[in-house]
Amino acid sequence: MIVQTAADIARDFGPEYWREKDKKHEFPEDFWKSLVEAGFTGIVVPEKYGGGGLGMFEMVLAMETLVSEGCGLAGEWFLCLSSVFGGLSISKHGSEAQKEKYLPQIAKGLEFCLALTEPDAGTNTLNIKTMAVKDGEGYLVNGQKMFISGADRAKGALLVARTTPADKAAKRTLGLSLFVVDLPDPAVEIISIEKHGINYSKTFEMYIENLRVPAENLLGEADKGWYSVLDTLNPERMSFSAAACGLGLLAIRKAVDYAKERKVFDAPIGSYQAVQFPLAEAKAKIEATRLLNYKAAMLYDKGQDCGAEANMAKVAAVEAGTSAVYHAMQAFGGYGYAVEYDVERWWREVNLIRLAPVTHQMALAYIGQHVLGLPKSY
Ligand SMILES: Cc1cc2nc3c(=O)[nH]c(=O)nc-3n(C[C@H](O)[C@H](O)[C@H](O)COP(=O)(O)OP(=O)(O)OC[C@H]3O[C@@H](n4cnc5c(N)ncnc54)[C@H](O)[C@@H]3O)c2cc1C
Repeated sequence: MIVQTAADIARDFGPEYWREKDKKHEFPEDFWKSLVEAGFTGIVVPEKYGGGGLGMFEMVLAMETLVSEGCGLAGEWFLCLSSVFGGLSISKHGSEAQKEKYLPQIAKGLEFCLALTEPDAGTNTLNIKTMAVKDGEGYLVNGQKMFISGADRAKGALLVARTTPADKAAKRTLGLSLFVVDLPDPAVEIISIEKHGINYSKTFEMYIENLRVPAENLLGEADKGWYSVLDTLNPERMSFSAAACGLGLLAIRKAVDYAKERKVFDAPIGSYQAVQFPLAEAKAKIEATRLLNYKAAMLYDKGQDCGAEANMAKVAAVEAGTSAVYHAMQAFGGYGYAVEYDVERWWREVNLIRLAPVTHQMALAYIGQHVLGLPKSY
């Protein structure tokens, strides 16, 4: 049912719609409304709080279908920002009061963002400098964040800050805390970052100066936020793996349709092995990756360790998805470079997944160290 509903929505918001939104740098209001009406923004929100009471597996199915049936990366992006960063994190780590306050609203389409990355820390999350200092009944937060997507529209941010400086913490992994911050707030200034793709959603630098956060907005235990962050980053990886697979499938389908029709010598170009085999190989790799990603999501939903599967699926999805879009673009020849054929947009989109949410290198480093048992590579 989820797949069918996602496919129906995607048909209403096909490639032409996203071509226009990307070009005009315009938020897709009507698409978002459709996701809310279909209950997709509440998939992972427990039924008690007005959601679907389902898990990451169903979320991955919805994302994959929305992306592959025509929405491109947008089919994953907005659900990840609000439902994974907001819905999933609060469902898993929130207090009863936080759940009652935010979850019913998230199910109804309240937008969220994740404020984790910092300019000087980058991939090295434990090095973040944003500090939340105990001040009376709450916390006073100061710092700077980088690449915060959706911060212009978000009414809530999942903010990661240090409550104990790294040099004073008993362990490096201690001293981080998670907060749910209500936005907008005059203490939070955002500046848009012009980017390569996904222009229907904006990404920002964020400057936080003397932001007051009430104590009840601390998510989970103070100083132990690192473990909850990991619990959010794994589903984020699954979401982007679903997106890479979906983008690959979408590009392959369009390329196959084109390659069946296009004749420049005697036969359709799809009959030439140089065009056909790379698409066939990419399809095989995507289908295998989907299963690995489903496994990661199912382990997560059962509360089991899913780090190995989430990172391996991310690595495999980036390779398979990027290769699929690359060869699809090649099948289109010069038309692959024309905006009208959409594949250039999917190329811009799929390449993000090599850089974010975790870089390809860091996902490989995780597998090397934690799956293969090799020495830490950095
Ligand atoms: C469009 C976009 C949207 C984003 N949205 C969000 C968001 O909503 N919220 C948020 O918090 N963040 C967001 N990010 C940030 C994203 O997660 C980071 O860009 C990403 O984690 C990489 O960090 P960095 O850019 O600082 O790269 P760096 O950490 O500076 O890394 C640079 C390069 O060095 C490599 N490298 C670094 N250390 C090692 C090592 N030890 N071994 C091997 N290679 C290494 C990396 O793999 C990478 O290739 C977004 C980024 C983009 C581009």
